[in-house]
Amino acid sequence: MGGAAAGDGGGQLPAKVLASLFSHNAPVTVTQIIVALAIFLVIWRTSVFFLRMLATPPPEPDPEDTADVLQHFRCSTCGTEVTMTVASNTEIGAPRHCREEMTLVWRPE
Ligand SMILES: [Zn+2]
Repeated sequence: MGGAAAGDGGGQLPAKVLASLFSHNAPVTVTQIIVALAIFLVIWRTSVFFLRMLATPPPEPDPEDTADVLQHFRCSTCGTEVTMTVASNTEIGAPRHCREEMTLVWRPE
C-alpha cells in the first residue's frame, strides 16, 4: 500500500516529467510550465547577451596607445604590400593578409 502511494506521488521525478512531455493525453502540470519558462528565460537571456555583444562597436583606440612608425609589410601569399604609418603599442605583431602574417620588408628611405 505504502509503496504504491509513493509510486503515484512520483510525478515530480525528472523521468516522469520527461515521459509526460511526450504523452499527448497527459495534462500539462505546473512543474512543466515552470520548467518551460525557465528554459525560455535562459535561452532568451543568452540570445540577448550575444546580440548585444555583436551590436556594440569596439571602443575608439586611445591615441596614447599608438606610435608613429614607417614599416613596410608584404604578403608572402599574394604579394600585396602595405605601409604602416601608425602602430598600436598594445597590439604587437605584423598585420595579416590572406590569413597569414605579413612579412616585414626593409626599404631604404
Ligand atoms: Zn595576401
